Amino acid sequence: MLNMSEISLEQQYEQKVILFLNNIIKYLNLPRTEVSEALGIQGSDLNHILSGKKPLEVEKFARFSRYIGFSLSRFEDGEVDFRALREHWLGNAKHIPNAYTVGARSRNTMLINVFNYVKKVYEQTLAEGLLRHLQIDESILLYPDEKSNFHLFRDAISFLKMQGLNDWDVYKIGLNTIQTNNGTHFAKKMKSFKTPKSMYENYLGCLIEDVERNNRYQIVKITDKICEVESLEREEMLDIFKVSHIGHRERCIYRVGGLAGATMYLGLPQAQVEEVSCVHSGDPVCKFRINFENPNFFCEGVNVH
Ligand SMILES: [Zn+2]
Repeated sequence: MLNMSEISLEQQYEQKVILFLNNIIKYLNLPRTEVSEALGIQGSDLNHILSGKKPLEVEKFARFSRYIGFSLSRFEDGEVDFRALREHWLGNAKHIPNAYTVGARSRNTMLINVFNYVKKVYEQTLAEGLLRHLQIDESILLYPDEKSNFHLFRDAISFLKMQGLNDWDVYKIGLNTIQTNNGTHFAKKMKSFKTPKSMYENYLGCLIEDVERNNRYQIVKITDKICEVESLEREEMLDIFKVSHIGHRERCIYRVGGLAGATMYLGLPQAQVEEVSCVHSGDPVCKFRINFENPNFFCEGVNVH
C-alpha cells in the first residue's frame, strides 16, 4: 500500500485516473474494447494505463468524458457519483445524484432558473457544462415539481464562480426567478396583490408552500414603505444535514435578489433589499430589510400596469 504523502501530485493524479477508469468499467459494465475505442487508444495501451505503466493523456481523457457524458470538473472535485453515471448511461435521465435528494425541499424551478440565467447572460455551453458538473441530465428541467436540496444550489454556484461568475450574478440569478416563475401558480398569486405591502405580507408564506421549505420566515416589521423579514432555521433540516445553519453566503445573496425582484410581479421597479444580519457572518439570524417605498410611490401615483 502506497503512502499518499510519499508520492508526487502527478502520481496521485494518475492513480485517481486509474481508479476512475476501473469504476467506469465496473459501473457502466463497459467492455474494455469500447473503453479503449472511446479513449482513442490501443487495447494494449489501456492495459498499460490501468496498470500504471503509462499515463493517460489529458485530451484523451477529455474525449472519453464526452463519450460517457461526464464533466472533468467533477472528476477534479473528487466527488463522482458513479451510480448517477450508470443511471444516465442506462437511459434513466430523471435520476438525481443522492447527494442532492436527501432532505430535498426545493422545487426544480431553482435549478431551471440558474440554467436559464446562465444560458441567457453567458453561453448555452456553460449552462450545459453546469448540468454535467452536477451530474444532472437536461431533461430534469422539464420537471419543475421534482425536488432537490440546497446542496445542489451550493454546488451550482461554486462551479459558476470557478468559471468567472461573481456575487452580482448570484443576485441577478435571484432576480431572474421572477422571469422563471412566470405563468406559475406562485406568480399568479403574487400578481393578484394590489400593493407591495400586501404582496410581501403573503410572499414568504406562498414561497414556502409553492417553492421551497428550507427555512422558516417571520415578518418582524411591515409598513407602507418597508418590510423586515427574519429567516429562521428548521430543526428537522439541521438534523438531516448535521449543520448549525442551512445554506451558505451565496444563498443569502440569491434570496436578496429574489426579494428585491418580487415587486416586479406587480409590474413595479425592483425594491431595495439589504441583508442586515447573516448567520454566515456570525450573526444569530439572517434578517432582510426590504424598502419598497419607491415602487410604492409608483403604485400610488402612476398606473404602470
Ligand atoms: Zn444570511
